Amino acid sequence: MLAVVVVAALLRYDVLISAGHEGRPASCAAFPHHKCNLGASGEREWTPVVADAAAKILRAHGVSVARLPADFDGKYRVDAAIFIHFDGSDPPCRSGASIGYAHRRDAEAAAAWRRLYSSEWPFPFQPDNFTEDLSQYYAFEQVHARKGSLVIELGEITCPQQRAWLASRLHWEGALLAYFLSQLVGKGDVPKP
Ligand SMILES: [Zn+2]
Repeated sequence: MLAVVVVAALLRYDVLISAGHEGRPASCAAFPHHKCNLGASGEREWTPVVADAAAKILRAHGVSVARLPADFDGKYRVDAAIFIHFDGSDPPCRSGASIGYAHRRDAEAAAAWRRLYSSEWPFPFQPDNFTEDLSQYYAFEQVHARKGSLVIELGEITCPQQRAWLASRLHWEGALLAYFLSQLVGKGDVPKP
């Protein structure tokens, strides 16, 4: 009998950008082992806007981007990966921006994002990995990112003040993430917005 060996392709890009909750609930059936979390109210509309803005800028500067929805097939090897989210809280205004990651090697990238975003973000910034969903993010196992793999929560969408601040800056958030990723991987020389 002939043995058939299936080798899953390892997909290579400079950076991976996934928009949190994008494509759900339609994609949930195909990924029953993922919790079908649909995000906070309005989050699913915003994450693709930020992800698309960041991907467009990076590609215009010669950086290759895997631009993915929430659920995706395959394994990726990249220099850096981000999973874009906005937090939700009930009662509102108990949260803020935050960062999640799984490995020691991600901590430096997380610190760099915290430094950069803190200089602009006027609301609370939670400690790294302050929830289990952040440190044990379902998609981490599909991505090896040499310079860092981060869940980035840009703010609390359920807090009216934070939401208003964010609403007028979605493209700017994408541009800031593009700058951050370009610096992190040392490619593209994207200017700071
Ligand atoms: Zn989310």
